[in-house]
Amino acid sequence: MSVEEPFPREINYLRVSITDRCNLRCFYCTAWGTWEKLPAPEILRYEELLRIAAVAPKVGIRKIRVTGGEPLVRRGVVDFIQALHEVPGLEEVCLTTNGVKLQELAQALYDTGLRHLNLSLDTLERDRYLKITGSDNFLEVMAGLEKAAALGFNPLKINCVVLNGINDDELLNFALLTRDYPYQVRFIEFMPTVDPERWAHHFLPMAEVRRRLKVLGPLEPLEPEGTAGPARIFRLPGFRGDLGFISSVSDHHCPTCNRLRLTAAGRLRPCLFAGQELDLKVPMRQGATDELLASLFQDAIRLKTCESGYRSLDSPLPGRAMVSIGG
Ligand code: SF4
Repeated sequence: MSVEEPFPREINYLRVSITDRCNLRCFYCTAWGTWEKLPAPEILRYEELLRIAAVAPKVGIRKIRVTGGEPLVRRGVVDFIQALHEVPGLEEVCLTTNGVKLQELAQALYDTGLRHLNLSLDTLERDRYLKITGSDNFLEVMAGLEKAAALGFNPLKINCVVLNGINDDELLNFALLTRDYPYQVRFIEFMPTVDPERWAHHFLPMAEVRRRLKVLGPLEPLEPEGTAGPARIFRLPGFRGDLGFISSVSDHHCPTCNRLRLTAAGRLRPCLFAGQELDLKVPMRQGATDELLASLFQDAIRLKTCESGYRSLDSPLPGRAMVSIGG
């Protein structure tokens, strides 16, 4: 198969970054020392985001995940998520948050019809949380998780980036959360988003993570849902929740990748790792038709080749900070 040939997979999932602002400073996310936030006019307005969301189902998108930066820091996010639920052709609306404002907004988000919630949480220890994120918000985040669970968000997923020498001694504790709660805890391989040396120091392959969890029992594989992301999902016998493993580096999932990304600046990315981007904002602000926007989506889908993903272990993400892409 030639590298440039499109892969026969269904692209039905769009991750939409609605802001590059965040109330945390996770050390592995972005080179904060040199990072500059987007000028506000460069960030897509909600009506522009909704227009793109309305075009997306016309090219096969059925699921939209709202991300950031941290999406809950943007004013009007609850109304935006409400409006997304009214977009014809969209079957699923999801949110990924770092949870700092979750306790405050959980009820309002739940009232929009939102049910699919992912919480980014890399430790269950307060002091370590401060080390990783640069902020002492651990207690708020845990209170937000409790509130979301009590309200009945389902699926309620916890995304944990595994950092060798930092939180890899908490793998069992994270996994044991699924014994007592119907959460889906997903372990995510650390991607080379900052300097390669630091990345190589903290990278722990998913195979090692799974090896360490063997003491809890045999992992029973579960079938992924139609619009599911890259996680390989398992359940431990007798546990209420599931475990997911996302190995973007050591065992990438390009052949089954079903997603596109829209950056906060309005650029469509066929792949997290590839440098190509298609600008939707400028054409839209110059009066482009929905047909033209749909054809730009088609172009982005055509650019998703089967090997466009991660090529080599020492090349950081091309050209854009993770905080602006939304993972
Ligand atoms: S965008 Fe996510 S990973 Fe980056 S600093 Fe914010 S919470 Fe952390």
